[in-house]
Amino acid sequence: MGTRIIDGKTIAADLRGKVTDAVHRLRRDRGIVPGIAVVLVGVDPASEVYVRNKSKAVAESGMRAFDCKLAASTSEAELIALIAKLNADEEVSGILVQLPLPKQIDAQKIIAAIDPAKDVDGFHPVNAGRLASGLSALVPCTPMGCVILAKTVHETLAGLEAVVIGRSNIVGKPVARLLLSENATVTITHSRTNDLPSVCRRADLVIAAIGRPEMVRGDWIKPGATIIDVGINRVPGEGGKARIVGDVAYAEAMQVAGAVTPVPGGVGPMTIACLLLNTLRASCAQKGLPAPKV
Ligand code: NDP
Repeated sequence: MGTRIIDGKTIAADLRGKVTDAVHRLRRDRGIVPGIAVVLVGVDPASEVYVRNKSKAVAESGMRAFDCKLAASTSEAELIALIAKLNADEEVSGILVQLPLPKQIDAQKIIAAIDPAKDVDGFHPVNAGRLASGLSALVPCTPMGCVILAKTVHETLAGLEAVVIGRSNIVGKPVARLLLSENATVTITHSRTNDLPSVCRRADLVIAAIGRPEMVRGDWIKPGATIIDVGINRVPGEGGKARIVGDVAYAEAMQVAGAVTPVPGGVGPMTIACLLLNTLRASCAQKGLPAPKV
């Protein structure tokens, strides 16, 4: 049997459709419209594209998007004052601060200033701690997307050998904690891991979140394994045009793996879909309603 391509675009579109239906029901039955504030400080072209895409997706789901664009010279105190205002605003169910922030602002302080109940990125230490303790939490979007994609291949992740490459607070650590809560046997690897290819070859499920173009080669992969490639790397392509590749050598993985996510079109689209789901969940929790069925 050939290697399955895990179609993140279609899976994300399906999830977004379900969130949109749930938002519609919430508005119709309770008069509640979830809203997300997207905060962008300065003019980083890549961040502007991300923010535009997020706001568009929010609007398409029937939720409200509040765009807060601040000058690059904004001080930490000014940004914290804006966060306090958004924390107190009942129309705002979720707050997302686009990273990276300008040098004069400490991102950790800003994340800590967000009300954990509105932390739809799931980066607040309270949510990270709750996830680590196995309690309900707002979970970071990309890791949540990785687990959803893995579950389209495996009915259950229980008992699988999972190897996570990368230990960032945004992807590696939270995805490992989610996999553990799914009862996988999880190994977290990083730049100081000895003989990473051998560790990787043990895995039934590999999550690559490294930021190194095509680092995971075909001979690192156990035949039939599932490969979730989080990496987004810009490399020179034909005619000097940049092209995007993942952290996994895709063509090689396709020769060995059981299932692989493409880049682009794999994990990427799931991130926004999970952000919408988090905002919906946050809104329901803030209004004392049960978690929505999505
Ligand atoms: P970070 O740079 O924060 O973390 C990278 C991790 O990879 C670190 O833990 C680092 O180890 C590890 N690493 C680096 N080099 C090696 C190596 N040679 N061998 C083993 N491990 C190594 O990156 P992020 O977690 O933020 O992102 C990872 C990738 O995912 C990037 O390409 C990013 O663009 C992409 N991404 C994609 C998203 C999406 O929506 N699809 C969302 C977020 C990120 P150490 O800790 O030892 O330094």
